[in-house]
Amino acid sequence: TEKTMEKIVALCKSRGFVYPGSEIYGGLSNSWDYGPLGVEFKNNVKRAWWKKFVQESPTNVGLDAAILMNPEVWVASGHVGGFSDPLMDCRDCKTRHRADKLIEDFTGEPADGWSNQQMMDFIKEHDIKCPNCGSSNFTDIRQFNLMFKTFQGVTEDAKNELYLRPETAQGIFVNFNNIQRTTRKKVPFGVCQVGKSFRNEITPGNFIFRIREFEQMECEFFCKPGTDLEWFEYWRGFCRDWLLSLGMTEENMRLRDHAKEELSFYSKATTDIEYLFPFGWGELWGIADRTDYDLKQHQEHSGKSLEYFDQEANERYIPYVVEPSLGADRVTLAFLCDAYDEEVVDAEKKDTRVVMHLHPALAPFKAAVLPLSKKLNDKAQEVYNRLTKHFMVDYDDAGSIGKRYRRQDEIGTPYCITYDFDSETDGCVTVRDRDSMEQERVKIDDLVHYILKKIQF
Ligand code: ATP
Repeated sequence: TEKTMEKIVALCKSRGFVYPGSEIYGGLSNSWDYGPLGVEFKNNVKRAWWKKFVQESPTNVGLDAAILMNPEVWVASGHVGGFSDPLMDCRDCKTRHRADKLIEDFTGEPADGWSNQQMMDFIKEHDIKCPNCGSSNFTDIRQFNLMFKTFQGVTEDAKNELYLRPETAQGIFVNFNNIQRTTRKKVPFGVCQVGKSFRNEITPGNFIFRIREFEQMECEFFCKPGTDLEWFEYWRGFCRDWLLSLGMTEENMRLRDHAKEELSFYSKATTDIEYLFPFGWGELWGIADRTDYDLKQHQEHSGKSLEYFDQEANERYIPYVVEPSLGADRVTLAFLCDAYDEEVVDAEKKDTRVVMHLHPALAPFKAAVLPLSKKLNDKAQEVYNRLTKHFMVDYDDAGSIGKRYRRQDEIGTPYCITYDFDSETDGCVTVRDRDSMEQERVKIDDLVHYILKKIQF
């Protein structure tokens, strides 16, 4: 029983987690739509993030900034000048490749921070071939900017040109003064945001791992210069614990600290939390000490002071920033992969089940109400109506009870509630646990509380 991407993609499509985008028009490559289960699941992932990063945080607040920003923002942030990938074409089969990824696939190590010349030389020297056709007839490397362009207003001339944001972080930096003033927060404090970002990736793929339109969950944590490395350690651990507390398997996770040569020029320390997907290790979460680079850049380009007055120390400074940046789609995929399981229920009868061991807080449905017979539909519906006031619940009266259990197992529903012929007299239902498959008799009046307690995060 091997966990493969094919199986996970097929389950996502057949059960309504994720569909190929624009499918009836032949699709749009690497675009995906979240179906009825997918939207619930991803919303739960985002909610779990918000809960720990904002709601329960003594230091952090939230923000929802616009996707379209003054284009000068992207000059200041360095994205206009530097947000590009080294692109090369295969002359024989006309496919495009990221030179750094070709090297990474060859060596198993990231090729960040290499010059174009270094990459060209390496590819020639080691005779790295086109993964599509095996030729080594490549063009020279050219830099390709990843930002999507669009226009604002009625004329499509250059002065109306805008970019779709390639990260959510800049919306936070440009609002630093607003937020600090209105919340009267003292450094250290963090600003958190969840939202869409867009990157014209050269080589998207691996399902929703690398897409051109994706969601990020970013926190910019502002702290006093000199305390940044401590805070970096703090958030690095906090992020790892968040994943573990949602049930991610520890052996499938690793924290990869960037070596000096790999660090961005403005960064003092960076760690990637990586996950072992069926296709290999991939970055989930980038945690970086970004120093005062971003605020300094914006201060310079906007002409507005972004200094903070520290009353306690009686000094002015530009805060340092520690940034944990997580892809909502990527971590959603990681949780799906991690939860997928094919279990032998009865070896003799060759009985197996596909079960998603999702954390109850993330599961699309918290419970499913299953009347033992269609004759019990009215009463079972009453139970269903009581529960849906509190959380998402499925209802299924079709087929044998065993088949219905399996359908719920496959979508990760933690509790199946069977309404039977005794329910009316004893006021109880049978609750079946997805993972242990054990059953328990529970009073209908206690059900909401019983389930709320179990799905707590
Ligand atoms: P990669 O090296 O995989 O392209 P990156 O280092 O460019 O990622 P960051 O700019 O650090 O990524 O973005 C922060 C997070 O946003 C990533 O860790 C990832 O979870 C998510 N992310 C970035 N690009 C994409 C994408 N194209 N599709 C889905 N998620 C993405």
